[in-house]
Amino acid sequence: MQYGFYFDADRCGSCKACVMACRDKNDTLLGLKNRNVIDFGGGRWVEKDGLVQPENVFVYSISISCNHCESPACVANCPTGAMIKRDEDGIVYVDESVCIGCGTCANACPYGAPKVSEERGVTSKCNFCMDYLDEGGRPACVDACLMRCLDFGDIAELREKYGDACDVAPLPSSSETRPSLILGLPKNADEDGAVINLEQELL
Ligand code: SF4
Ligand code: SF4
Ligand code: SF4
Repeated sequence: MQYGFYFDADRCGSCKACVMACRDKNDTLLGLKNRNVIDFGGGRWVEKDGLVQPENVFVYSISISCNHCESPACVANCPTGAMIKRDEDGIVYVDESVCIGCGTCANACPYGAPKVSEERGVTSKCNFCMDYLDEGGRPACVDACLMRCLDFGDIAELREKYGDACDVAPLPSSSETRPSLILGLPKNADEDGAVINLEQELL
């Protein structure tokens, strides 16, 4: 079994309650967010009929944490064995007793999920709230979202329910690490996950 997340980008209003719930649960310091919300937008102003008007303007938000990948680059590159993928459910977590805070995992992860705590000398990363799961509970971020954008569970069951889209700008290609993530694509993304008119400048 592999745990994974579903995130519906079409419903997210970028309120960041998921981020705050995660920080509260994990007591993470400023700048060490285990979950982040990326606001992504584009478009341009064009002159038409003597007026300057917006063209192809879009914006959407992606709430993202570690994706507990099937081929985790963080685990493959950790020199001490501190980054571990749990056999029974595929959760990737940090064993702080072994972590030396070198940041190799952070550099290897295409999603930038691990964050090194200079203060504590170890890496911080989403561990799927595995202590909550082990007690029969749910991840704090999933429970915090008022828009019900986030869901979690067995990735095979989630894919049956929601499909298998997991590529959208500005995220890296899913071919790199095969993330346990499913996206409800935003209106302005096409079926392949690419943003309409990739030449748009970022706002
Ligand atoms: S709590 Fe929900 S709506 Fe708010 S930013 Fe997170 S995923 Fe988006
Ligand atoms: S998202 Fe990054 S930190 Fe998480 S399992 Fe994948 S490679 Fe590792
Ligand atoms: S599962 Fe837990 S640790 Fe991971 S992003 Fe959600 S709240 Fe944070």
